[in-house]
Amino acid sequence: MASLGSVFTPVGRKALLLGSGELGKEVAIELQRMGVEVVACDKYPNAPAMQVAHRSYVFNMLDGERLRQIVELEKPDHIIPEIEAIATPMLVELEKEGFNVTPTASAARLTMNREGIRRLAAEELGLKTSPYKFASTFEEFQQAIEEIGLPVVVKPVMSSSGHGQSTVRTQDEIASAWKEAQEGGRAGAGRVIVEGFVDFDYEITLLTVRSVSGTVYCQPVGHIQVNGDYRISWQPQPMSDKALKAAQEAAKAVTDALGGYGIFGVELFIKGDEVIFSEVSPRPHDTGMVTMISQDLSEFALHARALLGLPVPDVRFLGPSASKAIVVEGDTDKIVMNNLEKVLEEPGVQLRIFGKPEIKGHRRMGVILATADTVDAAREKAERAYEALDVTVLPR
Ligand code: AMP
Repeated sequence: MASLGSVFTPVGRKALLLGSGELGKEVAIELQRMGVEVVACDKYPNAPAMQVAHRSYVFNMLDGERLRQIVELEKPDHIIPEIEAIATPMLVELEKEGFNVTPTASAARLTMNREGIRRLAAEELGLKTSPYKFASTFEEFQQAIEEIGLPVVVKPVMSSSGHGQSTVRTQDEIASAWKEAQEGGRAGAGRVIVEGFVDFDYEITLLTVRSVSGTVYCQPVGHIQVNGDYRISWQPQPMSDKALKAAQEAAKAVTDALGGYGIFGVELFIKGDEVIFSEVSPRPHDTGMVTMISQDLSEFALHARALLGLPVPDVRFLGPSASKAIVVEGDTDKIVMNNLEKVLEEPGVQLRIFGKPEIKGHRRMGVILATADTVDAAREKAERAYEALDVTVLPR
């Protein structure tokens, strides 16, 4: 029997959210809507999800011992990794001791490192991927590029949002790509993946939900990335029946292999009817923020519902929609978003401000959502709203 008890009592459920960014914030809100106690964690205070959680802890989640202390103190019913940079071997240990990790500890461990998930997808599941090699030294790196052939895409094995990622098109870009990857990796200098450049027609995120009801798919999300960071996404991405079927099959294979309950963002490149697996996040995906306007249950609501062990029989798609990331550059703790009367002037436009406390460099601070009769119209509407937005960056 599926049950949820009163919050703050022994019959209630408690979730420990590891990662408190904008995606974690929405997961926290959805869990709260189901009467779940939410404890948010991140490495800095006042992170977005902390602002809507019941309680929070500030610590380095790569510190396994500290992570264990907090888990033992809080005894959560659900440990929910919301970012990749977590001491995942400790999650594996905690899971063995009976704690419940979303979707599974091994999913978090395998996807923390590009090598784990790439080898699983390509070598164990036989999914089509770009050609790839791993390199730990500059010599291995040069060798890998020679074997794959230019152009290649280089990424630290532990990185996300495009940090340390670059495309090498000519011989004289090789040294700078190595340097960039060494500086941009999450764990500092280290191993990189060298991937053959895929000349895709378009790329999608196929949001895939595993729950007690089985596996269901959201409409494919199309998106455009700049330097490995998403700028605009839309739903549905038009696809041939054949490509959509192949995409769902690839998503099923990889999510079944990772197991557990929750939503997965399966990233795929599409060329004609061919589907090339790129990577997967065992949690909501940034490009999937569009579902906050395009579906009856957003990717965050679906994640919460699935991980709580509740049925997700289907996903109701409401209509063509788009999301446009608001990326702000500067060094400040004070920004002001202006001209909102213009930004929100047209019907079918929404704004989310994440509430991040500061910016150093560039940071995604909010998102514009738009819905219209067609995908093109939704994208244009989101772009118009974004063009109207004026952001003031004030000195600290
Ligand atoms: P990732 O962090 O692996 O998701 O990469 C970020 C983005 O870089 C992808 O969404 C693509 O737009 C681009 N990209 C990554 N790998 C490749 C590749 N092998 N060929 C072409 N583009 C790529």
